Amino acid sequence: MIDLTSRSVLVTGGSRGIGRSIALKLAELGASVAITYSRSADAAQEVVKEIEAGGGKALALQADAADLERASAVITEITSEWGGLDVLVNNAGITKDQLILRMTEEQWDDVLTTNLKSIFNYCKAAVRPMMRSRRGSVINIGSIVGLSGNAGQSNYAASKAGMIGFTKSFAKEFASRNIRANVVAPGYITTEMTESLEEAVLEKIRQDTPLGRPGTPDEVAALVAFLASDASSYITGEVIRVDGGMAM
Ligand code: NDP
Repeated sequence: MIDLTSRSVLVTGGSRGIGRSIALKLAELGASVAITYSRSADAAQEVVKEIEAGGGKALALQADAADLERASAVITEITSEWGGLDVLVNNAGITKDQLILRMTEEQWDDVLTTNLKSIFNYCKAAVRPMMRSRRGSVINIGSIVGLSGNAGQSNYAASKAGMIGFTKSFAKEFASRNIRANVVAPGYITTEMTESLEEAVLEKIRQDTPLGRPGTPDEVAALVAFLASDASSYITGEVIRVDGGMAM
């Protein structure tokens, strides 16, 4: 049984989709959970209400993941509220798909700053309180596209592949302080990010997935809960797929 009682957690992009499921799961296991969001204030407040209704503690903070100064302020707010930060889940992410020949500089920059610079921002700010308490778990939400590449997603794939190099470097820098870092690499998961895909694309995804169906945000959250907890205390610098076997 995973127990996160008295642990304090931040999930970036926790208002919707996979981040929302992660926030609810970690709160259900006893953690105090802060989420950030970019635009969905109402959805973020719903997550807070749901956690509080279950007897948990929650906090929603507006913060663009690409903003380093704001990341530092968010961590300060959480540590002054709950006395520390034990778990950081870097989940906020976007797609702006386009073939390389047609991709604009803006599409490239937006995806790289939101998906990759954000990891640096939050890891840099969160590692100080983790060092003070001599424990921490960082979980970065990557993608199997960061392992395999995908036509039309060079910006997204680069951001998710870059995250793996960053995570392994971070894991090596802070292992001696008992701070772990891992990447969770989902395959196709049903959320708003993927709901606009055409039926033909979805059918191809189902055919390419040995388990024959898309995954759910709860199936990603279950792995994140394990990595957040002491049950995974000897696992660091790892990339774990949760993809129904798609990238096997
Ligand atoms: P959604 O689009 O459903 O949700 C994205 C979340 O990220 C929202 O809470 C959103 O906040 C937040 N967000 C977006 N941009 C920013 C920003 N600049 N600053 C802060 N928060 C931001 O996405 P998913 O739940 O599907 O994806 C979550 C993560 O999982 C992403 O990193 C994605 O790359 C990864 N992933 C998803 C897969 C899938 O199939 N769905 C597959 C593999 C990886 P707001 O509500 O305010 O917009």
